[in-house]
Amino acid sequence: MSQSRLYFTNSGLFLSGGEACLIDPGLFPEELEAIAHFLAEQGAKPRAIVLTHSHWDHLLGPERFPGVRVITQANFLKETSAGRAEDLLWQVGEWEEEYGLEREKPFVIPQPSRTFKRRLTLELGELRLQLVHAPGHAADHLVIYEPGSRTLWAGDMLSDLEIPFVSQSLEAYEKTLEMLATWEVRILVPGHGHPTASAEEIQSRLAEDRAYLAELRERVSQAVAQGLNVGETVRLCAEMAFRHREENLGPHRLNIESVYLELGGKADRTRVGWNRL
Ligand SMILES: [Zn+2]
Repeated sequence: MSQSRLYFTNSGLFLSGGEACLIDPGLFPEELEAIAHFLAEQGAKPRAIVLTHSHWDHLLGPERFPGVRVITQANFLKETSAGRAEDLLWQVGEWEEEYGLEREKPFVIPQPSRTFKRRLTLELGELRLQLVHAPGHAADHLVIYEPGSRTLWAGDMLSDLEIPFVSQSLEAYEKTLEMLATWEVRILVPGHGHPTASAEEIQSRLAEDRAYLAELRERVSQAVAQGLNVGETVRLCAEMAFRHREENLGPHRLNIESVYLELGGKADRTRVGWNRL
């Protein structure tokens, strides 16, 4: 695993029998070079690149490994089509400008050569990687489970730094965590933050995130039932407890707004919630 200097983003790979499966490789050019260098050192061939979802900061790896098949969940195609593609290109452009990165060819959104709906088993040397649709943060979000070591690659979930970013659907996010809570996990690698092999820590991240979402649902449903507007709903959820309070105040507010809309509250969708970003 390697960690980017942006958002504590983790890139990783599974390696078996001289074959590698790369996960969300990125982010900066020198970080991609380091991954390529590591593969060469190991004498390993990249056989597949799995993108956990279509958010811009997970899309930058495939162009460094041309010809390697890209695997995504099926909703990736819709999530990166027409109007959305422009937003993604804009986000990548902004990031490159901020860090003064020069590119030779324009960025092109990677296209999957293989997609799946609910589940896909990927054979890699001796390993049987399980790719499982796990929506809630994004409609095309997936997780990867390696049954031999009981490793869960959680994508943008179960971070020790971030709260759940409910940027697609609260209902889907709750169901995804409910499913993950039934799996045996010994090693947890989040897409942002620190991996852990502590059973206690894995349990507590899951429990905290589920409790956070349950309280969010409870408070926002009450607000909607009482006819409160979105600003009043934000105030009703202001004193909720969550990790790294300062850093997560912005995402918490966006969560409240998005959940308010999801639970039937009336507000301008272009101005509140994750959608407005
Ligand atoms: Zn994301």
